[in-house]
Amino acid sequence: MSSFLICMNFKGKDIISIKDFSKKEIDYILDKAKGMIPYAKGEKYKDVLSGKVLSSLFFEPSTRTRLSFESSMNRLGGRVIGFSDPSGTSQKKGESLADTIRMADSYSDAIVVRHPHEGAARLAAEFADVPVLNAGDGAGRHPTQCLLDLFTILTEKKKIKDNKIVLLGDLKYGRTVHSLAHALSLYGVELTFVSPASLKMPNEVINDCKELGVEPSYTSNLEKAIRDADVLYVTRIQKERFPDAEEYNRVVGTYKINNELLKNGKKDLIIMHPLPRVTEIDPEVDATPNAIYFKQAFNGVPVRMALLNLVIGGKL
Ligand code: ASP
Repeated sequence: MSSFLICMNFKGKDIISIKDFSKKEIDYILDKAKGMIPYAKGEKYKDVLSGKVLSSLFFEPSTRTRLSFESSMNRLGGRVIGFSDPSGTSQKKGESLADTIRMADSYSDAIVVRHPHEGAARLAAEFADVPVLNAGDGAGRHPTQCLLDLFTILTEKKKIKDNKIVLLGDLKYGRTVHSLAHALSLYGVELTFVSPASLKMPNEVINDCKELGVEPSYTSNLEKAIRDADVLYVTRIQKERFPDAEEYNRVVGTYKINNELLKNGKKDLIIMHPLPRVTEIDPEVDATPNAIYFKQAFNGVPVRMALLNLVIGGKL
């Protein structure tokens, strides 16, 4: 694919929302990620980010996003500073996000930030000269997850367009599906949204899909929805975003993927999940060829390596 793509310059660019990127730019990043696979696996090594420092600022819990960013920086020869829990920082003393970002800006060459408030990454970018990468801002967006989700569909299905894709679960608070619905619409896929009535996809995201020419379908009938689907993207109900616990208790456990349910789907249906899963995918599914979610999580490394290399300006 690379021979068709002219070289693009991402040096210094913030990665805040997937909506800031054209389809051509996304294709370019995905192509770069493909080239990173042997480096992500440790089969090849080039210290193209030697001497560079990444600030990894996690104001919210994370396993995959934080570790895969850190692994990516290390595998490119760079170093990482930061925190995974803000209670050990001056935030505890009342420091503003802007001031914390100003400090990280002067200590590093790029900043990865995860924060519980929507819009926090965009705000951070205003206070930093170095590139800021949004690692999830509340119920808002998760652009790097989106890129690894697209990369996974591309590598598993050999193309993104024309796939029938079901987004299932907490479509209201799930930031990964907000980003993914937009990006998939750029590729002209068929989208079906399946969620409890109180956790429907926000209108803003639906309108965005429509503006890009995709008219999503809605159903609460999961058996029917997966019948001719190529991709089933499952999400966790985002407990931490619910204003009241009772509302959460009403919807928790409303859907579960197990081998019985999969009998309704195509043989080559792939099941994705940004993880962590809680109760929505039965562990028995892990052994099926349909389960792609752990591979998907690995794909975070080549994709984030490609992004760091591009925005910091490595030569790979
Ligand atoms: N890990 C993903 C996120 O940070 C999905 C989730 O937490 O359910 O948004």
